[in-house]
Amino acid sequence: MIRSRFAPSPTGYMTIGNLRSALYEYLIAKKDGGVFILRLEDTDQARYVEGAAQVIYDTLHRTGLHFDEGPNTGGNYGPYIQSQRKDSYMPPARKLVEEGKAYYCFCEKERLDTLADERGLKKYDRFCHKLSKDEVQAKLNSGVPYVIRQFIPDGRTAFTDRVYGEISIDNGELEDQILIKSDGMPTYNFANVVDDNAMAITHVVRGSEYLTSTPKYVLLYDALGWDKPVFVHLPLLQNADGTKISKRHGAASILEMLDEGYLPQAVINYAALLGWSPSGEYAEREIFTLDELEKIFDTSHISKSPSTFDPKKMTWVNAEHIKALPLDVYAEMALPYLQTAVKTAGIDMKELARITRSRVSFVKECAELVDFIDTLPSYEIDLYTHKKMKTDPAVALQALRAVQETFAGVTEWTGEGLQSVIAQTAESAGLAKGQILWTVRTALSGKPTTPCGATEIAVLLGKEETLRRLQKGIELLHA
Ligand code: GLU
Repeated sequence: MIRSRFAPSPTGYMTIGNLRSALYEYLIAKKDGGVFILRLEDTDQARYVEGAAQVIYDTLHRTGLHFDEGPNTGGNYGPYIQSQRKDSYMPPARKLVEEGKAYYCFCEKERLDTLADERGLKKYDRFCHKLSKDEVQAKLNSGVPYVIRQFIPDGRTAFTDRVYGEISIDNGELEDQILIKSDGMPTYNFANVVDDNAMAITHVVRGSEYLTSTPKYVLLYDALGWDKPVFVHLPLLQNADGTKISKRHGAASILEMLDEGYLPQAVINYAALLGWSPSGEYAEREIFTLDELEKIFDTSHISKSPSTFDPKKMTWVNAEHIKALPLDVYAEMALPYLQTAVKTAGIDMKELARITRSRVSFVKECAELVDFIDTLPSYEIDLYTHKKMKTDPAVALQALRAVQETFAGVTEWTGEGLQSVIAQTAESAGLAKGQILWTVRTALSGKPTTPCGATEIAVLLGKEETLRRLQKGIELLHA
């Protein structure tokens, strides 16, 4: 069974890059009915940021990436938290020491500082590896602080990454890495491997910045005799100007994006496309729900080349997901904005929702689309000029007068009724229907673009207000 994990360090908010790792882990598990877990890698107390864990829970919760397993926290699954698992790390470290694959190191900082090579890089010189068993025991007995280091054997270390293929390095490039720090806590690298094994993780997905650390993980798996997971390293994420997307570079936080009006499903959809592309019958599609992604995601279509975060594309994806919302759901989201923008009594809010749903990139934008309903904005007569339609202020005046007269007599104030009245008016006035519709829409809205046509606006405004605005238009054109 596939078991994947999202293993963030709680060092701040979550960026689209972090979310992408979580999402791919989630999709890999879900596609095969597997298990997705959350593990907080918080053994490095110096990097811990207050509140960061909660941000991770909230982000996963709001984007629908629910985890399937973890310590029971009163009926719910909690995440695995490394700092609460301290006791798990010393036994495997001791085992390595017993087998001669790791050793105690008592070197003090002052000595380590002298080891820098000409490039300023410090590679541990194995000073303590040369200590005899008795010397080590004597130091341990007298309480000298120590760390535990892995003894890196000679040779090469190779592994296959799902995305980057065969990778191999000379072990001479690696240092005898610290597994347990002097405070008894595991290092980040050691805890990561111990936990991936303890939690029977089959797939490890993370950013390509971890590619160079992976040989160290591989050496640990080998030293401990554990099965290695499948490694899936994800391409670099960059901004349009080529800079890396990271918290350090001020990348947007997912929670902020959600608060600004990006829908969770749009953020998920866009994150999925950052480095992966659908194939086969889905190759031409870009809009997917999480459920669909669960079915069609596959690691073989993750690209090696860096992917660029494009805010415009993200906004387009958002608009597409808004269009796809059931009207009731959209109406509920839009209502607070519509109610702020439109206070006129008797306006059909559901209709306002219907006409705006396919015209916004963010739900809140619905407000500005319908702001002409309460108050007709002041506009210039140039607004009546439309070359293609062959309308100008003179045609407009003629059209408005004709419509004013016919509309006054209408008893059935519905879209259909008004459409046929306009058709008749056009005919008797010798004008094109389009000329009348354009002119009436302008007089009723005072805007060059509106979310719906002339008759729909007239129905929304009602007869009295419609006639009043037609009259205003006539007066403006007369002046
Ligand atoms: N804890 C690491 C991070 O926050 C993830 C490492 C991993 O997934 O193995 O980036």
